[in-house]
Amino acid sequence: MAKIQAIRGMNDILPADTPVWQYLEETVRKLVSSYGFSEIRMPTVEKTELFKRSIGEVTDIVEKEMYTFEDRNGDSLTLRPEGTAGCVRAAEEHGLLYNQIQRLWYTGPMFRHERPQKGRYRQFHQIGVEAFGMNGPDIDAEVICLTARLWEALGVADSVELQINSLGSAAARQTYREALIAYLSGYKDQLDEDSQRRLDSNPLRILDSKSAQTQEILNSAPDFQDFIDAESRQHFNELLSLLDAVGIKYKINPRLVRGLDYYGKTVFEWVTESLGSQGTVCAGGRYDGLVEQLGGKPTPAVGFAMGVERLVLLITTLARVPDYVNAFSDVYVIVAGANAGLPAYSLSITEVLRKALPGCRIVLNCGGGSLKSQMKKADKENAAYAVIIGDDEYSDKNVSVKSMRKDRLLPGGDMQMKIEKSALAGLLQSLLK
Ligand code: ATP
Ligand code: MG
Repeated sequence: MAKIQAIRGMNDILPADTPVWQYLEETVRKLVSSYGFSEIRMPTVEKTELFKRSIGEVTDIVEKEMYTFEDRNGDSLTLRPEGTAGCVRAAEEHGLLYNQIQRLWYTGPMFRHERPQKGRYRQFHQIGVEAFGMNGPDIDAEVICLTARLWEALGVADSVELQINSLGSAAARQTYREALIAYLSGYKDQLDEDSQRRLDSNPLRILDSKSAQTQEILNSAPDFQDFIDAESRQHFNELLSLLDAVGIKYKINPRLVRGLDYYGKTVFEWVTESLGSQGTVCAGGRYDGLVEQLGGKPTPAVGFAMGVERLVLLITTLARVPDYVNAFSDVYVIVAGANAGLPAYSLSITEVLRKALPGCRIVLNCGGGSLKSQMKKADKENAAYAVIIGDDEYSDKNVSVKSMRKDRLLPGGDMQMKIEKSALAGLLQSLLK
């Protein structure tokens, strides 16, 4: 029978790769907690209306990327394409937002029907951070600091660049929008296809068009800086001086707009040149209007989302994953002999070891096999030490310990030694600490 394969653009994350994912997730978990953020977990599926109303009808995501389906009740549901909408929905639904400050984060799979390629998938993972109830530039600076600290922790700080911009107030964007439409209408035929389509519906998105010719036309377009409102300008300037104060370098990119309608004032992206064209590893900004747009009281908010696949690619491409992450096992227990008491003897020794060495990875050979084949398995596990239990060890109430790597010798520089069963845990404890 033909084998059934995974869906295009939806990846299995295999055992060889999960240690890097876990390392990344663990690093993030510690860091966000050190900034006082608490985890929130939302469902993967939400009502379609939630995304239409928040992300915007005329965006790539809502127009052509959502996995939308009718469930058995006839309701229109969508696999979440991003986390902010669901996070706001959940926080609002449970009364976490009104008159309160919240610092929340989440992680999980997101779904977008895009053309799969390196760094762009149909199921991908994001880590998102959202801060509610604070309207000053200080919290914008704080979430950007958090990302900068993460790049340091992951050893990629010198490979990512912060691009930042202000989209101003809704009113300023509206006036600018009209000026932009008036200007670009004169060049309509020369714009790329997507931009032509967006000219009336979502002209700001034309600013980040990938087409060289469109970008050329934009060089003489009205400048948003001439339209930005005084309050947003001040917010932006204060943010920049806060970033200066903590030594975070940035590049102001006046063409930076985001693919979701809910952003205003601050927007930013962290971009790398090490991953080819899928170079944005983190993107976010301020979205003061969203909570109200979803039926809540006006609540200022700022946040960002990171692409986990792109970060995993980045730290592996740049070889920044610490060695310990991929070191598989500490101890491999080999059971080779004919004595009927051996299985119980070795099982109980291994359990004692696991209790005495919490945090160590100890693999017991199950299913028998020759000494040679078990040694091969120990090698494959990359074990630091093998504990060998055979018929002699069983009758003498001791065990053999063998160093499996040159950098992990036994006391006195031995490769192999025998030791009383009762002293084994103590020996390994001192060797593995
Ligand atoms: P892009 O311009 O690359 O399409 P976007 O603006 O659509 O990105 P956001 O919605 O801001 O992306 O999502 C935040 C981050 O999530 C992105 O910066 C990226 O790292 C990651 N991301 C977005 N879409 C995908 C995808 N299809 N596959 C993998 N990662 C993704
Ligand atoms: Mg996209």
